[in-house]
Amino acid sequence: MTNTVPEINSLTGTADSGATPATITFADFGLDPKIQKAVSEQGYNTPTPIQAQSIPHVLAGSDLMGAAQTGTGKTAAFVLPIIQKILRHASSSASPARHPIRALVLTPTRELAVQVAENAASYSKHTDLRAAVVYGGVDMKEQVAILRNGVEILIATPGRLLDHIGSKVANLSQVEILVLDEADRMLDMGFLPDLQRIIDLIPGQRQTLLFSATFSPEIKKLAQSYLRTPVTVEVARQNAAADTVKQVVHMVASADKQRAIMKVLEARTRQGLSRQCIIFTNSRLGCARLARALERDGIKAGAIHGDKSQGERTLTLDAFKSGAIEALVATDVAARGLDIPSMPCVINHELPFNAEDFIHRIGRTGRAGSKGDAIALVDDSEKRLLDDIERLMKRKLEVAPLPTVKTEPGQTSDPFFYKPYEAGSAPKAATTDAVNEKPEEKKVGITPAKPSVGALLGGFKKK
Ligand code: AMP
Repeated sequence: MTNTVPEINSLTGTADSGATPATITFADFGLDPKIQKAVSEQGYNTPTPIQAQSIPHVLAGSDLMGAAQTGTGKTAAFVLPIIQKILRHASSSASPARHPIRALVLTPTRELAVQVAENAASYSKHTDLRAAVVYGGVDMKEQVAILRNGVEILIATPGRLLDHIGSKVANLSQVEILVLDEADRMLDMGFLPDLQRIIDLIPGQRQTLLFSATFSPEIKKLAQSYLRTPVTVEVARQNAAADTVKQVVHMVASADKQRAIMKVLEARTRQGLSRQCIIFTNSRLGCARLARALERDGIKAGAIHGDKSQGERTLTLDAFKSGAIEALVATDVAARGLDIPSMPCVINHELPFNAEDFIHRIGRTGRAGSKGDAIALVDDSEKRLLDDIERLMKRKLEVAPLPTVKTEPGQTSDPFFYKPYEAGSAPKAATTDAVNEKPEEKKVGITPAKPSVGALLGGFKKK
């Protein structure tokens, strides 16, 4: 069954079809006053489109496939009705036996797990339900203590959850609702066998919700295996980027890409635009190198990739959010799930090997109806990748010259490389980092990291 609510493209935006925007309010869902109170305290007035479409179905007990990216409000779309549904089990008893896991949310990355857990903790803060998060790369001890105490809503990355199940600390026999968040990414990261093992331990009489940015054939297969006649809700056209994103391709030789970034940032300054940007790279090493090189050139840059510890990632992200860093250089996996609101600009230092990753990358900008720029620096060797992306998005991307930089006295021409793109005319690319280096943790899932800052280690205290 497909939901008939018109397609809506932004967080609080209006429907594509020109239909009247949904006038539904949080009160219409009939949520318990304890949940309503938490929602009001978050400052949410109107449900986002994914919330308006999903919450009634989840409350009604349907399985659901939601096509929505991070940034659309999808977390509350499943967390709020989950809290409502398991509220009847809430208990003030200290006994762990009274707090079995009732809802399990699986996510591909620890960052996303932490974000979901923070949301679950704040939406449930006026109830006796407990929410906690477990993920790999950090010591298990604190997580074990939290699990032993009992928790109704558990958010987990698959590998670490299996570790806890193996040591008999986590038991899924009373799980009523299962959420597979960013399921496409979980498959990309090779988590399918882990997912299968976990799902086999959950009672068949469960409600299953699957969220994914795209509905690839693999995702549909996963849904067929584990969901029962799911309702499908979509808030953005399949495989399309938000209309608020202006996309442009600059043809640049690999060796000139760093200078091209400088040029783009300088042009933004001159136009009075924010210089805050995420720059995507394909490999950890390339990511670290580019961040260092930009810093040497006077750009406030930070790197976020799989070799960074959780503590380092958190510090970098905080610095980026506060504006102390203006260019966040990231790999796909590390950036996945990060909640960075209203990002004005995304730069692809190189194109991703997987066209769908391009859509995830540019989905970082143009959120919540705000305008964004997505810039791709493409060399001749990436032409095939560009073709794949254009085929997936069903549109040609505009190829434009790099912005011209200020001419210094005595300088007669643009000092930076620029060559308009013509088939076969782009210069032979120098070897890119991506070619010689291992791509970011596609297969391994969670990379072990040093123990991180206390707040992120395990459970979430009620605020
Ligand atoms: P998510 O897609 O779940 O990561 O949410 C993206 C952002 O939207 C988060 O910062 C949420 O706090 C925020 N958000 C979620 N629901 C609403 C709402 N109904 N109104 C305003 N902001 C919201």
